[in-house]
Amino acid sequence: MDGCKNPMSFADLGLSPELLLAVEQAGYTEPTPIQAQAIPVVLMGRDVLGCAQTGTGKTAGFTLPMIEILAAGRSKARMPRSLILAPTRELAAQVAENFDKYGKNHKLTKALIIGGESMSDQIALLDRGVDVLIATPGRLLDMFERGRILLTDVKILVIDEADRMLDMGFIPDVERIVGLLPKIRQTLFFSATLGPEIRRLADAFLMNPKEITVAAPSSAATTIEQFLAVVEEIDKRETLRHIIRVEDVKNAFIFCNRKRDVDVLFRSLKKHHFDVVQLHGDMAQPARMEALGKFKSGEARLLVCSDVAARGIDIKAVSHVFNFDVPIHSEDYVHRIGRTGRAGQTGRAYTIATPDDGRFVVGIEKLIGTVIPRIAVEGVPALDLVMDPKRRGRGGKTAERPSRDGRKARGARDEVRTEEAPPREDRPAREERVPREERAPREDRVPREDRAPREDRVPREERAPREDRAPREDRAPREDRRNAKDRDSRKGRDRGERGGRRERFDSLGIGEMTHRDDAIGFGDHMPDFMLRTVTVKG
Ligand code: AMP
Repeated sequence: MDGCKNPMSFADLGLSPELLLAVEQAGYTEPTPIQAQAIPVVLMGRDVLGCAQTGTGKTAGFTLPMIEILAAGRSKARMPRSLILAPTRELAAQVAENFDKYGKNHKLTKALIIGGESMSDQIALLDRGVDVLIATPGRLLDMFERGRILLTDVKILVIDEADRMLDMGFIPDVERIVGLLPKIRQTLFFSATLGPEIRRLADAFLMNPKEITVAAPSSAATTIEQFLAVVEEIDKRETLRHIIRVEDVKNAFIFCNRKRDVDVLFRSLKKHHFDVVQLHGDMAQPARMEALGKFKSGEARLLVCSDVAARGIDIKAVSHVFNFDVPIHSEDYVHRIGRTGRAGQTGRAYTIATPDDGRFVVGIEKLIGTVIPRIAVEGVPALDLVMDPKRRGRGGKTAERPSRDGRKARGARDEVRTEEAPPREDRPAREERVPREERAPREDRVPREDRAPREDRVPREERAPREDRAPREDRAPREDRRNAKDRDSRKGRDRGERGGRRERFDSLGIGEMTHRDDAIGFGDHMPDFMLRTVTVKG
């Protein structure tokens, strides 16, 4: 785990013999710090505010005592006894796997309620009654609105990765869900960070919680060998291919900073006959699951991914991590390379930098407290990092750009390499910036319009009905609506104005028209590109 020795044993924590057996079968010899601190407190029935990241063993920290508590008692149809909210489907699925692993010696039932999967199967499970419900907020609300679930019997609530929920704009949904639960309950609230907004939520959801903080992994495991290659931007792919070919790569995560580049690199590797899959949030859920499944089973050796899509995904025995881009935030470097070298196994992490990445590499080396050894790759010129953005060296992004046909624009270097080149932060270089949704979560910032980042947004069909929309059952029957539509469009035509359309909305009880409703030719849907602000440079 994080290298921190804990003298306590699982047997000291008050767990039953069945759970101790499951823990032993999982191969764990001693509890991690979060487990040692959280398990006894949860067993006492107290609320917990846990500040811990993935990788600390927090899932077992709440799953084990929950199984212990739920072992006594039975569930009723459509009335789950406990609820775990996770921000993404992958994380929810991972929690469900944990329940199977630790609950194998118990007869508890669980349901995983996430988007992108058959609703009827999920409904059938709920109808039978479940002890543990693991859900993403959108699908859960949808089920609730359809009358498929009652939350009045929930005795334990877990909110996992709260800061990520905030980052993804799910907090209004979470607040709504919490409002549907009994006031008297036990709440376990986990977040990697505890900024003001997270604290506000914790104050609202928890009662006299025990606060448990475990240190973020700020140093990379000593079992990971790290290397850094500094090359021209245009040589990065060749560098990566070369290293993969000469290394004994059993399986590897390959991280890009932007999801757009994930796809480009994935296609490039595929073209070069590597067995590779990709993972980013713009992909449909079945494709995401398929890619992950292939990588987990070993069918695909390489997974190209973005930080956001791959965050929290737990795969053991990963032999390599490649940073195709140097992460902007140093902590991301630690998280990325922490995918390898787990549980005492050795791992190798390669980072491919361009000279311009100097200050990011320095930030990483400061955080991990060591200088990453530089390597040269055969056939690719090795360069130096540039620390001062004003003094660009050879190979900086502005020093030499690939021409349109992808080849180097030879001779361009001297022309462009100027001392006056504006510092990085003054240049707009939009295409070089990490998109808003891929930046490290700043929890004190509510995302624009409280929306989830596009790549992680829940597809329309899984979203809870909009609150400003009249509930389905309150709306006029379809037939009537159609008649009203015909009538009103006639009215509108007769008047030669759009008043008919407004009346139609009013008559349906939908309320005030928004600018979206006002769009002609798009029905109720206004494509996002129509709403985007465009700045025209004079
Ligand atoms: P989590 O932080 O819950 O995502 O857990 C990260 C990884 O640590 C998972 O692969 C767990 O199986 C593993 N793990 C959890 N508890 C322990 C433990 N006590 N000893 C060793 N590994 C553990």
